Amino acid sequence: MCGIVGYVGSGKAAGIIVSGLHRLEYRGYDSAGIAVYPQGADHLQVVKTPGKIDDLEKLMLTEFQDPAVLNATIGIGHTRWATHGEPNQVNAHPHMSGQGNFAIVHNGIIENYRDLKLKLEKKDHHFRSETDSEVLAHLIEECYEGDLRAAVAAALEQVEGTYGIAVICKEHPDMIVAARKGSPIAIGVCDDATIVASDVSAIINHTNKVIFLDDGDVLLARKGDIDITSLKNVPVSRELTNIDWDLTQIEKGGYEHFMHKEIHEQPEALANAIRGRLVVEDGTSKLSGMQMDAYELARIDRVLIAACGTSFYAGMVGKYYFEDFADIPAEIQQAAEFRYRNPIIQRDTCMLAISQSGETADTLAAVREAKRKGAIVLGLCNVVGSTIAREAGRGVYLHAGPEIGVASTKAFTCQVAVLAMMAVALGRTRRLSIQAGRQIAESLQKVPELAQKVLDQEKAIITVAEKYAGVQDAFFIGRGYMYPCAMEGALKLKEISYIHAEGYHAAELKHGPIALLEENVPVFACCPDVPGKSKTIGNMQECRARKAPVIAFATEGDEEIAPHCDDLIVIPRCPEFLAPIPVVIAEQLLAYHVARLRGLPIDQPRNLAKSVTVE
Ligand code: GLU
Repeated sequence: MCGIVGYVGSGKAAGIIVSGLHRLEYRGYDSAGIAVYPQGADHLQVVKTPGKIDDLEKLMLTEFQDPAVLNATIGIGHTRWATHGEPNQVNAHPHMSGQGNFAIVHNGIIENYRDLKLKLEKKDHHFRSETDSEVLAHLIEECYEGDLRAAVAAALEQVEGTYGIAVICKEHPDMIVAARKGSPIAIGVCDDATIVASDVSAIINHTNKVIFLDDGDVLLARKGDIDITSLKNVPVSRELTNIDWDLTQIEKGGYEHFMHKEIHEQPEALANAIRGRLVVEDGTSKLSGMQMDAYELARIDRVLIAACGTSFYAGMVGKYYFEDFADIPAEIQQAAEFRYRNPIIQRDTCMLAISQSGETADTLAAVREAKRKGAIVLGLCNVVGSTIAREAGRGVYLHAGPEIGVASTKAFTCQVAVLAMMAVALGRTRRLSIQAGRQIAESLQKVPELAQKVLDQEKAIITVAEKYAGVQDAFFIGRGYMYPCAMEGALKLKEISYIHAEGYHAAELKHGPIALLEENVPVFACCPDVPGKSKTIGNMQECRARKAPVIAFATEGDEEIAPHCDDLIVIPRCPEFLAPIPVVIAEQLLAYHVARLRGLPIDQPRNLAKSVTVE
C-alpha cells in the first residue's frame, strides 16, 4: 500500500533511494528501511526503523559509515504502512531470507501467509517478524536454484493476495527483480540506471519516460536495461509512457486533493477490506483478528459501540447490522459520553471501539473504561499498531490504506463493510441461516463494483453541486439505514464547505427544524428504493410544500421518485443493507465539489485535525 524504490546503476544507490522515499512520503507510512549491496561485500547492508525517513537517515549516518556502503550501486528501499504486525523495527522492510542472501520490499497483503509460513517452518525457516511479507523472502530463498527471476516467479505462483515487490540477491549484484499484482510498480530506464518505484514521483527527477508493470508481470532490471515476462516466463512488452505532470499532481495521483483521490480509491480500498475475509460457501466471514471461536462469538449478548465523528455514523450503520443479522441488542454511544457516564457492562457485553487513526482520545478512554469493567473489547481501526488497536488487544483492521485528507471518506465505507462482516460472523453463530449468510456475503463481494458505479456518476453530481454551492444552510434526511447516511452527508458538507448543514431523521423534521425551511435551504433526501421509501417521499413532500428544493439520492431506474424532487443523484441498485456505501460515496463527491467550487482548502479544513487526540 505504501512505497517502494529500487535502484541499480552507476550512481550512489543509498542517497538516490532515500530521496525517492522522501518523494513517496505523501502516501503516508509508519516505518522506513533500505538495503544496499556494496561491491564485493560478503553481506547485504540493511537499516530500518519505525517512524520517519528522517529517522532512517539519522541511522544511516551511523550504520552506513563505510564508504563502500555509501558507494553501493544497487539497493531497495521501502516505506511501510503496516497491515500485519505493529510498526516496529523488526517488522519494517526490507526483510531478509533466512540465509541473508535475499532482501525484499513488499507492498500489499499476502493472504495465505500463515499456510506458507507453516510450510516453511517445517523446512527449518525461522521468522523474525510478524509480517506477512517476510514469508516472501524465505519462499524466494526456498525456490532459488541459481536464477533470481525464476525463483521470484516460482514463489509468487504460490502466493494469494496482492503485491508490488522488489528483490535483490547477493549472488546477482547487478539486478533487481520486481513484480506486481494489485500494487503498482513503475520503471524508469535511464542510460546509466534503472529505477523501480511504486509511483512515478520517485522516478520523475531521473527520467519522465516510464513503463508500468501490469498485474502478473515480472521485471528483471539491470543498469539501463529491462526485461519483462509473465510469471510463466513468457516475454511481454509494455508501452513507454511520457509523464508530463508536475510533482504535486503526481503525488496526488493526478487529483487536485487527497480527499478526491481517496474518494476514488474506494473500489480498491473496499476490495482490500473484504479480501480473503468472506467465506461465501459457508455464508460467513473469517476475521482472525477478533481471536474468537464460535463458542465465544455465541456468548456475546450485547454490543456497545463507541466512536466519534464519521466513525460514529459508521457505527450507527453497524448497530443495524448487529440487530438485523445477528439478533444482538446493539447500542451506539459517543465515545466522549461513554467515558463519563457509568455504562452498564455485563460479562458478555462486547465493546466495539471504532477509530480510523486508532488514536482518538475519547474512544481510547472508552476502551480503557470498558476494559476496567470487564467487557470483551474489540478495536476497529485503520492504522495498524495504533494505541486503540494495541490496547483493545483484538479487533479488525480496515486495510483501507492511508487516509490523508482530513475529511474521512474511504475509512467510512470500509468500516461499514467490516461491520457487516463482523455481524455476519456473529449472526452465523445464532439464527442467521447459511442461505441468508451467503446472500449477504455475495452482495458484499460486489461492493467494490457498487462503489465504482457511483464514481461513474461524478459528472451528474458536479451539476447538482454547481446548482447548490452558494447556499448557506442545508438539511440531509433519511430513515432506517439512511438515517446515519443523512448524518454523515451533513457532516461531510459542513466539514469542508463550511455550509451549515444538519442531518435529521426524516420523520423528525416536522418536530422543529421544518421551521427553518425556505426557498434557499435545500433538503438532501437519502431515499433509495428500499423499505420506508414511500415514507421518506412523504417527508420530501412536506419540504417542498415549504418551498425548499429537494434533492434525492435515489436508485437508478426508480421512476416513482422523480416527480417528488427537484434534482436526482442516482445510485446503483443494491440490497438495503449495502445502500449506505453508495449513498455516502455520492455525498462525499457532492461535498467535495461544493467545497471545490467555493474555493476552500479541502485537505486541511479550518479548525480540524486528522486525528483528534484531545478530549
Ligand atoms: N503487509 C505488509 C506489512 O504489513 C506490507 C505493508 C505495505 O504495503 O506497506 O508489512
